[in-house]
Amino acid sequence: MTDMEDFSAIRQQFPILDQRIHGHPLVYLDSAATAQKPEAVIDAESDFYRTINAGVHRGAHELAARSTVAFEEARAKVARLVHASEAEGEEEIVFTAGATASLNLLATSFGNASMGRGGAAARRFALQPGDEIVVSKAEHHSVLLPFQELAARTGATLRWFDLDDEGRIRSDTADTVITEHCKIVAITHVGNTTGAITDLAPIVSRAHEVGAIVVLDACQSVPHMRIDFHALDVDFAAWSSHKMYGPTGVGFLYGKRALLEALPPASFGGSMVELAFMDKPAQYMEPPARFEAGTQPVAQIVAAGVAADWMMGIGMDRVERHEATITEELLKLGEVEGVRILGPRSAERRIATVAFEVEGVHPHDVGQFIDAQGIAIRVGHHCAQPVHRHFGVFASNRASSAVYNTPEEARRLVEAVGGVRDFFR
Ligand code: PLP
Repeated sequence: MTDMEDFSAIRQQFPILDQRIHGHPLVYLDSAATAQKPEAVIDAESDFYRTINAGVHRGAHELAARSTVAFEEARAKVARLVHASEAEGEEEIVFTAGATASLNLLATSFGNASMGRGGAAARRFALQPGDEIVVSKAEHHSVLLPFQELAARTGATLRWFDLDDEGRIRSDTADTVITEHCKIVAITHVGNTTGAITDLAPIVSRAHEVGAIVVLDACQSVPHMRIDFHALDVDFAAWSSHKMYGPTGVGFLYGKRALLEALPPASFGGSMVELAFMDKPAQYMEPPARFEAGTQPVAQIVAAGVAADWMMGIGMDRVERHEATITEELLKLGEVEGVRILGPRSAERRIATVAFEVEGVHPHDVGQFIDAQGIAIRVGHHCAQPVHRHFGVFASNRASSAVYNTPEEARRLVEAVGGVRDFFR
């Protein structure tokens, strides 16, 4: 079987794609917002409820034991996907409600450390006036806002990387943007608007040179690339299950174990406490439990583990190669008269997420015109207003692919976009 035939078999595992929209076969090019789910993931969630549903880490009964095993197996699968299991015991995956929750968890914990919580061990996370937090103009609001708020709460200063004319983060300026005062660098691995892959090495090495902690937003990289957080040497990474073919309501926080052990908790309640008293402070559990207060969405987490396994079953190197063929086709949008790509115009160091504007036509009009042909793309600012401002626009159109897309579908989009200006003239 050729790789293309294999991928066509993979596509058939997504029941939602087998439908017509406005009389046309559905072309789903909005996977950067959320990816569709293969049967294996859909079944895993309902199978959990049909067979082993029970509270995890509690209860002496057999169902509780089985659900706990499934829950912890999911953690191991997700760790394998991002190579966090390579250095056994040195790294950890925490389950959260999504990437936004993971990033807020960190910002809240750093804020708690800044108020003296977590004792001497947590002092390395503490911020005060004069300290700096570095982000970039390419950040999703889920990175920008938690860290902007953290700066406001602690008196630290927010600084940022600028972008070049293709929207790439100016990693070449790492030595000047990241100063001796920098405590935290929170940066995206792949821009959710530009599709550009960040040149992380100079940023991580400079951050560590000045003793800063690196937080990576891996939402748009994990679904598309072979990831090795261990090799990238980032300290923390956040991403969401629903963008990597898993259920909504689940996210992940990867962290170096020594750092997680020193990090004070961000939310409090059941399942994260060893000893609780009326008259003295509680003693909290070790990570990851310390950061997983309350009942977890266990069925969804188990299904997210199945999604991780499913991705590894295909092989992320093959996914990258397949999606590169779609990038090539999507970039032909740049050849359509009046269309400007907001991001790198060549297929180098980018993924198949391509934002564009059609001169003189509002993105919502473009989106509706395209939708009428059965093609789903995203319109708006994609929760990334600063990057749009960088390009001098408030909103754009964005086509983003996943393993189930075909080059032919990308061609259909390019053809449809070719008709936009005539229609609205
Ligand atoms: N970061 C990036 C780059 C994203 O694309 C997204 C989702 O749109 C997020 C963060 C936030 O993820 P979620 O909404 O799943 O919490």
